[in-house]
Amino acid sequence: MAAPNPEPSTIMTSTLLLLTLLAGGCSSPPPAENGVVLSLPRPQTNAPSQEGEVVEPLVMHWLGTASFHIRAGATSILTDPFYSHHTVFRTAFRRLESNPERIQALLEDLPEPQAILIGHSHYDHIMDLAPAMRLRGWRGAQVFGSATADNLLQGYPEKHRWRFNRVTGHTGWQESTTPHLRLKALPAGHAPQIGNRLLWPKQIREPLTKPPTKAREFQAGRVLAYLIELDAGAKTHRIVFLSSTPTLHHELARQLRASSPIDVLILPVASWNKVEGYPGSLVRALDPRYIVLSHFNDLFDRRRPQRTLRFADLDGILKALQEEVSARKSPGFERIIVPDIKAALILR
Ligand SMILES: [Zn+2]
Repeated sequence: MAAPNPEPSTIMTSTLLLLTLLAGGCSSPPPAENGVVLSLPRPQTNAPSQEGEVVEPLVMHWLGTASFHIRAGATSILTDPFYSHHTVFRTAFRRLESNPERIQALLEDLPEPQAILIGHSHYDHIMDLAPAMRLRGWRGAQVFGSATADNLLQGYPEKHRWRFNRVTGHTGWQESTTPHLRLKALPAGHAPQIGNRLLWPKQIREPLTKPPTKAREFQAGRVLAYLIELDAGAKTHRIVFLSSTPTLHHELARQLRASSPIDVLILPVASWNKVEGYPGSLVRALDPRYIVLSHFNDLFDRRRPQRTLRFADLDGILKALQEEVSARKSPGFERIIVPDIKAALILR
């Protein structure tokens, strides 16, 4: 049984807000050319690599919204599977349906992931997990996420295909049976999407008995950030994955500071300017080599999924980040990356 449905007035208010703010063409031309890699010169203070050292590069594919396929050597992980875009009207009023052709096109040449990480359970972070595993014939992956994510996924007939690991964000490193992979989940919070309002913020406390089909049935549950360690020969890649702009970024920065420098910091863009101090606090604490932006494409556009979400303010976050990294002059910093959907990022 799902968590109690929101009051009808809540649904209508949410719907009206969605329509008011997003209808009438959700997109604007991208303020930065997608796929452009912004580079700042790196001072020549890095130690040369050891002779004979073998390091598997990190190969990342952004698949839109907060979904990344990340691979080092034989180990692959997938985050927040969501690929089936719906119009604002459909999202507000109608059934959501996965798009098999798009799922196939995005995932067909990527290795099967051993672990799938769910940051939170809004529809745009979890709704294509079960269809993707069925369509690709995947089985045996460990899924990591909140109790809400587990209860929600119980409603799918494909649930036998994965082993779910509930994470609370309040314990240490998570058990993983995948060699060369370690995870730590941390409470992250979720910035409001519309004005100061966070849509569908509840937890789902009982397993569903059928797949959710409406956006409001995908309640967020606990929102988690992940620290990921992927061993790659002589090196361990450290990645911080955020599924949405975190309201708890100061606490995250404090907890993750001990793990710096981070190799890759994945930063959501949508609603970034509603959270004071983000993303500067995280950049200062984590000292990342690469900053990879995510969750800035228009998830309401079915035909042009790469277009930038109207209110994402990609220009604004790029400016803030460039000022931050310029001021820091970190010797390890390499690049801010605005990825193209499905373009391979090879990070060494
Ligand atoms: Zn969300």
